[in-house]
Amino acid sequence: MTTNKVTDEQEAAPVKVLEDVQHTTCCIVGGGPAGAVLAYILARNGVDVTLLEKHGDFDRDFRGDTLHPAIMELMDQLGLADRLLHLYHTRLGSFNLNTDGGAVSIDLSHLLTKYPYITFMPQVEFLTFLTDEAKRYPCFHLIMDADVKELIEENGKIVGVRYQPPDGWHAVRAALTVGADGRFSKVRHLIGIELVKSAPPMDVLWFRLPRKPEDGEGVAGTIHDGAMFVMLDRDTEWQIAYAIPKGKYKQIQAAGLPAVRQKVAEALPYMADRMELIKDWKQLSLLAVESSMCRRWYAPGLLLIGDAAHVMSPVAGVGINYAVQDAVAAANLLTAPLQQGNLTVADLAAVQQQREWPVKVMQAAQGAVQERILKGALQAGKPFKLPLIIRLPFVRNIAARLIAFGVRRVRLKV
Ligand SMILES: Cc1cc2nc3c(=O)[nH]c(=O)nc-3n(C[C@H](O)[C@H](O)[C@H](O)COP(=O)(O)OP(=O)(O)OC[C@H]3O[C@@H](n4cnc5c(N)ncnc54)[C@H](O)[C@@H]3O)c2cc1C
Repeated sequence: MTTNKVTDEQEAAPVKVLEDVQHTTCCIVGGGPAGAVLAYILARNGVDVTLLEKHGDFDRDFRGDTLHPAIMELMDQLGLADRLLHLYHTRLGSFNLNTDGGAVSIDLSHLLTKYPYITFMPQVEFLTFLTDEAKRYPCFHLIMDADVKELIEENGKIVGVRYQPPDGWHAVRAALTVGADGRFSKVRHLIGIELVKSAPPMDVLWFRLPRKPEDGEGVAGTIHDGAMFVMLDRDTEWQIAYAIPKGKYKQIQAAGLPAVRQKVAEALPYMADRMELIKDWKQLSLLAVESSMCRRWYAPGLLLIGDAAHVMSPVAGVGINYAVQDAVAAANLLTAPLQQGNLTVADLAAVQQQREWPVKVMQAAQGAVQERILKGALQAGKPFKLPLIIRLPFVRNIAARLIAFGVRRVRLKV
């Protein structure tokens, strides 16, 4: 295990004055879907848990707002689904991909589940709801503005973290530290676990445009002349993903904003009347798409879950689903040892063992879609034809199941 070494420079720095040291059983770094769900389930089972979130709120720019059927089933198991569905949301039972070479639809509405649709809800609402529900349990502690910067290591084991809100340093000591701090995980960096990466053939430019009622709702996908767009309904606006060939952002920038506006308007003619609202490159946010996984998800006293352990390609939008399923698997396997105070490294390894293969299988499926569909779709000037296989009903059914539940349905057992 490698942790952040104290350099000569750091040794010369003024000694940190620790404001306080808190003690908990499980310290979770990161209040995203993975961290919030794990914290909720542990607290519900009487495990003392401290959730540290770097930001002052849960609002995110350009994040996923999807709750797939697997997540709704979990909410149902937890007795939270009805209350959650009282919050503003939209539902999507099927998804159409329109291309110059034909259209294809993925239909979730026939799936055997109480929730045969994708629930669209701003992630901030979901996370606020979940953490508010967790606050009913006295053993749940949420600390916002808590930017975790160091791990505390003793005798080769992680025993907590140090974080820094604006007022100084604090420490949390715990039997287990969970890194649920997303794709740029500080915890993963500090422990020295590397991601094994593969590079999907695209990057994504995100931007927003106002949504009019006549546009329709839910999700729409379009492939047109070397460009792919996926539009996500966020009530009053569309969050639009513009997939571009990997590494071509500079070239697109050099061609200028008018060229971007024209490209969007050609592919999505009903957006043409709004394209002048895109006036500045700052309105476009570049997401370098990657697909990756840690070889090892754990170290003594520490576990990585969600994007911190594996970044999923955006194909099929399974990132949140997978992050939440990691959290459920971790809760199933670790609640008893945490309650009994006998957590071992083998318990942490079991979480990776259970979740690693569904991640690998999904990433392989996403890789196949990227190679067989997206690569061709992103070649300008070449007529694009959807591969025949995606038109086959049973293939579309498999795709619907993978989107809804992932490779392995994870049920809560605690
Ligand atoms: C632009 C974009 C669009 C996406 N769209 C979709 C979609 O439609 N559907 C889908 O399923 N997935 C989507 N994803 C992926 C999805 O957002 C992630 O897979 C999912 O959020 C991962 O959850 P997580 O809890 O592991 O990490 P995150 O959601 O990244 O949460 C990590 C949390 O840790 C906090 N944190 C980070 N560092 C620290 C620190 N040092 N100390 C304390 N806290 C820290 C962060 O503030 C954050 O709240 C999208 C991703 C992006 C970037």
